[in-house]
Amino acid sequence: MDEVEEGKLWSLESKCPRCGSKFTISEYFHNIPLIGKIIISSGRCGNCGYIYKDVRAAESHGPQRLKVHIDSPNDLNIIVVRAGTASIYIPEFGISITPGPASHGFITTVEGVLDRIKEVLEMLREDPDIDMEKWRYRMDLIGRAMKGELEFTLIIEDPEGVSRIISEKTEKEEIYKS
Ligand SMILES: [Zn+2]
Repeated sequence: MDEVEEGKLWSLESKCPRCGSKFTISEYFHNIPLIGKIIISSGRCGNCGYIYKDVRAAESHGPQRLKVHIDSPNDLNIIVVRAGTASIYIPEFGISITPGPASHGFITTVEGVLDRIKEVLEMLREDPDIDMEKWRYRMDLIGRAMKGELEFTLIIEDPEGVSRIISEKTEKEEIYKS
């Protein structure tokens, strides 16, 4: 996409995942230092107010698993582009977050990813079947990781290959859809 200029690319018709009404999504192209070429999509359902937003890299690297080992507080600032279709894993903490049908892509840092995981865990607290002991243990791990007290591995598994972890330490592995 070398010749593409920054700014609006196009609009597309979509169906609201909440109420089923048709609404328009606009896509914008940006070339951001460090991150590279990305496409940002946004739209709002005129019927129910549902807000759609998504971020993904403009070029696909093919289905891939990205892995980075976090071993210093500085690593918490590593930039992450997580596509809506990508799963997040932290094996050391027993964390796995798979995308739901209305998952959005986002740009954040490793610390921001931990913050999202915390939000997901907060929502799980309402679940009557949850093992509270395990829940507290995981919350504690995430909290300590956010303070830079723990080492861990962040894995992003992306079948579309449009996620990124912006660090020289990132290991990439191709995956194949079964
Ligand atoms: Zn709607």
